[in-house]
Amino acid sequence: MKSTSGKFELETPRDRAGTFEPQLVKKHQRTVSDEIESKILSMYGLGMSYADIAGHVEEMYGIGVSPATISTITDKLIDEYCGGMQDGHSFKAYLPGGASGGILPASMGDLPLEFGSLEQYGCFVGSHAVIILSDQDNTRDAALNLMRFFEDESCGQCTPCRVGTEKAVKLMQQRGWDEPLLQELSQTISDASICGLGQAASNPLRCVLEHFREDWS
Ligand code: SF4
Repeated sequence: MKSTSGKFELETPRDRAGTFEPQLVKKHQRTVSDEIESKILSMYGLGMSYADIAGHVEEMYGIGVSPATISTITDKLIDEYCGGMQDGHSFKAYLPGGASGGILPASMGDLPLEFGSLEQYGCFVGSHAVIILSDQDNTRDAALNLMRFFEDESCGQCTPCRVGTEKAVKLMQQRGWDEPLLQELSQTISDASICGLGQAASNPLRCVLEHFREDWS
Protein backbone atom coordinates (compact mmCIF):
# COMPACT_ATOMS: atom_id res chain seq x y z
CA MET A 1 0.00 0.00 0.00
CA LYS A 2 1.07 3.58 -0.57
CA SER A 3 0.86 6.14 2.18
CA THR A 4 2.19 9.63 2.84
CA SER A 5 5.18 8.04 4.58
CA GLY A 6 5.96 5.58 1.77
CA LYS A 7 4.99 2.06 0.65
CA PHE A 8 4.40 -0.78 3.07
CA GLU A 9 3.13 -4.34 3.12
CA LEU A 10 -0.24 -4.91 4.71
CA GLU A 11 -1.44 -8.40 5.56
CA THR A 12 -5.17 -8.88 5.50
CA PRO A 13 -7.25 -12.01 5.89
CA ARG A 14 -8.53 -11.59 2.34
CA ASP A 15 -6.50 -12.90 -0.55
CA ARG A 16 -7.00 -13.25 -4.26
CA ALA A 17 -6.64 -17.03 -4.16
CA GLY A 18 -9.97 -17.20 -2.42
CA THR A 19 -8.65 -18.94 0.70
CA PHE A 20 -10.27 -16.42 3.00
CA GLU A 21 -12.81 -18.10 5.25
CA PRO A 22 -15.27 -15.58 6.63
CA GLN A 23 -16.10 -16.09 10.29
CA LEU A 24 -19.79 -16.29 11.01
CA VAL A 25 -20.83 -14.40 14.10
CA LYS A 26 -24.28 -14.99 15.51
CA LYS A 27 -26.53 -12.25 16.76
CA HIS A 28 -25.44 -10.92 20.18
CA GLN A 29 -21.97 -12.41 19.66
CA ARG A 30 -18.71 -10.69 18.93
CA THR A 31 -15.21 -11.86 18.16
CA VAL A 32 -12.54 -11.11 20.71
CA SER A 33 -8.76 -11.33 20.63
CA ASP A 34 -6.91 -14.50 21.67
CA GLU A 35 -5.75 -12.70 24.79
CA ILE A 36 -9.29 -11.86 25.87
CA GLU A 37 -10.45 -15.37 24.97
CA SER A 38 -7.84 -16.94 27.16
CA LYS A 39 -8.61 -14.48 29.95
CA ILE A 40 -12.29 -15.38 29.73
CA LEU A 41 -11.47 -19.06 29.86
CA SER A 42 -9.18 -18.68 32.86
CA MET A 43 -11.89 -16.77 34.73
CA TYR A 44 -14.37 -19.49 33.76
CA GLY A 45 -11.93 -22.05 35.14
CA LEU A 46 -11.98 -20.19 38.46
CA GLY A 47 -15.72 -20.85 38.66
CA MET A 48 -16.87 -17.32 37.84
CA SER A 49 -20.34 -16.79 36.40
CA TYR A 50 -20.84 -15.36 32.91
CA ALA A 51 -22.09 -12.12 34.49
CA ASP A 52 -18.94 -11.74 36.61
CA ILE A 53 -16.72 -12.57 33.63
CA ALA A 54 -18.51 -9.98 31.49
CA GLY A 55 -18.08 -7.42 34.28
CA HIS A 56 -14.32 -8.05 34.51
CA VAL A 57 -13.83 -7.95 30.73
CA GLU A 58 -15.68 -4.65 30.62
CA GLU A 59 -13.50 -3.31 33.41
CA MET A 60 -10.19 -4.57 31.99
CA TYR A 61 -10.68 -4.12 28.24
CA GLY A 62 -13.55 -1.68 27.98
CA ILE A 63 -15.69 -3.98 25.82
CA GLY A 64 -18.93 -5.78 26.50
CA VAL A 65 -19.21 -9.53 26.00
CA SER A 66 -22.60 -11.24 25.94
CA PRO A 67 -23.36 -14.68 27.42
CA ALA A 68 -23.56 -15.93 23.79
CA THR A 69 -19.98 -14.78 23.18
CA ILE A 70 -18.69 -16.43 26.36
CA SER A 71 -20.58 -19.59 25.49
CA THR A 72 -18.90 -19.69 22.08
CA ILE A 73 -15.54 -19.59 23.82
CA THR A 74 -16.37 -22.35 26.32
CA ASP A 75 -17.60 -24.44 23.35
CA LYS A 76 -13.96 -24.58 22.21
CA LEU A 77 -12.82 -26.32 25.39
CA ILE A 78 -12.34 -29.76 23.87
CA ASP A 79 -11.18 -29.10 20.33
CA GLU A 80 -9.07 -25.98 20.73
CA TYR A 81 -8.00 -25.63 24.33
CA CYS A 82 -7.53 -29.32 25.15
CA GLY A 83 -6.18 -30.45 21.77
CA GLY A 84 -9.26 -32.45 20.79
CA MET A 85 -10.29 -35.98 21.72
CA GLN A 86 -7.57 -38.62 21.96
CA ASP A 87 -6.99 -40.62 18.76
CA GLY A 88 -9.59 -43.33 18.38
CA HIS A 89 -11.98 -41.71 20.86
CA SER A 90 -15.07 -39.68 20.16
CA PHE A 91 -16.92 -37.32 22.46
CA LYS A 92 -19.70 -39.22 24.22
CA ALA A 93 -20.61 -37.39 27.42
CA TYR A 94 -19.49 -34.74 29.86
CA LEU A 95 -19.73 -33.82 33.49
CA PRO A 96 -20.37 -30.05 33.45
CA GLY A 97 -19.64 -29.45 37.12
CA GLY A 98 -17.47 -32.01 38.84
CA ALA A 99 -18.73 -35.08 40.66
CA SER A 100 -22.19 -33.82 41.57
CA GLY A 101 -23.05 -31.69 38.51
CA GLY A 102 -24.57 -34.60 36.57
CA ILE A 103 -23.63 -36.23 33.26
CA LEU A 104 -24.93 -35.02 29.91
CA PRO A 105 -24.63 -36.56 26.43
CA ALA A 106 -22.44 -35.04 23.72
CA SER A 107 -25.63 -34.09 21.85
CA MET A 108 -26.18 -31.51 24.63
CA GLY A 109 -22.60 -30.27 24.42
CA ASP A 110 -23.58 -26.86 23.11
CA LEU A 111 -25.53 -25.83 26.22
CA PRO A 112 -24.14 -22.69 27.87
CA LEU A 113 -21.96 -23.75 30.81
CA GLU A 114 -23.52 -21.13 33.02
CA PHE A 115 -25.24 -20.98 36.40
CA GLY A 116 -28.96 -21.47 35.86
CA SER A 117 -28.72 -22.97 32.36
CA LEU A 118 -28.40 -26.67 33.27
CA GLU A 119 -30.70 -26.97 36.28
CA GLN A 120 -33.67 -27.79 34.04
CA TYR A 121 -31.75 -30.93 33.00
CA GLY A 122 -30.97 -31.95 36.59
CA CYS A 123 -27.39 -30.66 36.33
CA PHE A 124 -25.34 -27.63 37.31
CA VAL A 125 -21.95 -26.15 36.57
CA GLY A 126 -20.91 -26.02 40.22
CA SER A 127 -17.13 -25.74 40.35
CA HIS A 128 -16.86 -25.66 36.52
CA ALA A 129 -14.68 -28.76 36.71
CA VAL A 130 -15.63 -30.15 33.28
CA ILE A 131 -14.86 -33.85 32.73
CA ILE A 132 -15.11 -35.41 29.27
CA LEU A 133 -16.03 -39.04 28.60
CA SER A 134 -15.42 -40.82 25.29
CA ASP A 135 -17.23 -43.60 23.47
CA GLN A 136 -14.83 -45.99 25.18
CA ASP A 137 -16.09 -45.01 28.63
CA ASN A 138 -19.15 -46.51 30.23
CA THR A 139 -21.39 -43.98 31.96
CA ARG A 140 -22.78 -46.68 34.24
CA ASP A 141 -19.27 -47.25 35.62
CA ALA A 142 -18.71 -43.50 35.91
CA ALA A 143 -21.96 -43.02 37.87
CA LEU A 144 -21.15 -46.00 40.11
CA ASN A 145 -17.70 -44.62 40.81
CA LEU A 146 -19.21 -41.25 41.72
CA MET A 147 -21.82 -42.84 43.99
CA ARG A 148 -19.02 -44.73 45.79
CA PHE A 149 -17.29 -41.41 46.27
CA PHE A 150 -20.41 -39.88 47.85
CA GLU A 151 -20.92 -42.95 50.03
CA ASP A 152 -17.39 -42.46 51.25
CA GLU A 153 -17.76 -38.72 51.75
CA SER A 154 -21.13 -38.82 53.50
CA CYS A 155 -20.62 -37.61 57.07
CA GLY A 156 -23.41 -39.94 58.20
CA GLN A 157 -25.49 -37.35 60.01
CA CYS A 158 -28.67 -38.01 58.04
CA THR A 159 -30.03 -41.41 57.14
CA PRO A 160 -31.11 -40.82 53.51
CA CYS A 161 -27.58 -39.81 52.56
CA ARG A 162 -25.70 -42.29 54.76
CA VAL A 163 -27.83 -45.34 53.98
CA GLY A 164 -29.15 -44.19 50.60
CA THR A 165 -25.75 -43.84 48.96
CA GLU A 166 -24.70 -47.22 50.33
CA LYS A 167 -27.86 -48.90 48.98
CA ALA A 168 -27.49 -47.09 45.67
CA VAL A 169 -23.96 -48.45 45.26
CA LYS A 170 -25.23 -51.99 45.90
CA LEU A 171 -28.04 -51.60 43.37
CA MET A 172 -25.79 -50.00 40.78
CA GLN A 173 -23.31 -52.85 41.01
CA GLN A 174 -25.94 -55.24 39.67
CA ARG A 175 -25.69 -56.11 36.00
CA GLY A 176 -29.13 -54.79 34.96
CA TRP A 177 -30.34 -51.78 36.94
CA ASP A 178 -33.73 -51.72 38.66
CA GLU A 179 -34.85 -48.42 37.19
CA PRO A 180 -38.00 -47.73 39.28
CA LEU A 181 -36.19 -48.56 42.53
CA LEU A 182 -33.15 -46.43 41.65
CA GLN A 183 -35.40 -43.53 40.61
CA GLU A 184 -37.27 -43.72 43.91
CA LEU A 185 -34.09 -44.04 45.94
CA SER A 186 -32.33 -41.16 44.19
CA GLN A 187 -35.37 -38.93 44.69
CA THR A 188 -35.46 -39.77 48.39
CA ILE A 189 -31.73 -39.09 48.84
CA SER A 190 -32.12 -35.70 47.13
CA ASP A 191 -35.30 -34.67 48.92
CA ALA A 192 -34.45 -35.79 52.44
CA SER A 193 -30.75 -35.01 52.80
CA ILE A 194 -29.93 -31.87 54.71
CA CYS A 195 -26.84 -30.61 52.89
CA GLY A 196 -25.65 -30.16 49.33
CA LEU A 197 -23.64 -33.36 49.24
CA GLY A 198 -26.63 -35.61 49.76
CA GLN A 199 -28.96 -33.41 47.74
CA ALA A 200 -26.73 -33.64 44.66
CA ALA A 201 -25.29 -37.14 45.14
CA SER A 202 -27.75 -38.79 42.79
CA ASN A 203 -27.43 -36.32 39.92
CA PRO A 204 -25.01 -38.53 37.92
CA LEU A 205 -27.21 -41.58 38.54
CA ARG A 206 -30.38 -39.82 37.40
CA CYS A 207 -28.65 -38.50 34.27
CA VAL A 208 -27.35 -41.94 33.34
CA LEU A 209 -30.82 -43.40 33.85
CA GLU A 210 -32.27 -40.77 31.54
CA HIS A 211 -29.64 -40.37 28.82
CA PHE A 212 -27.60 -43.57 28.65
CA ARG A 213 -30.02 -46.48 28.85
CA GLU A 214 -27.78 -48.55 26.57
CA ASP A 215 -25.04 -48.51 29.25
CA TRP A 216 -27.08 -49.99 32.10
CA SER A 217 -30.06 -51.97 30.76
S1 SF4 B 1 -26.50 -34.92 53.47
FE1 SF4 B 1 -24.75 -33.82 54.28
S2 SF4 B 1 -25.17 -33.74 56.46
FE2 SF4 B 1 -26.44 -35.36 55.66
S3 SF4 B 1 -25.20 -37.24 55.89
FE3 SF4 B 1 -24.87 -36.41 53.83
S4 SF4 B 1 -23.01 -35.21 54.05
FE4 SF4 B 1 -23.82 -35.50 56.10
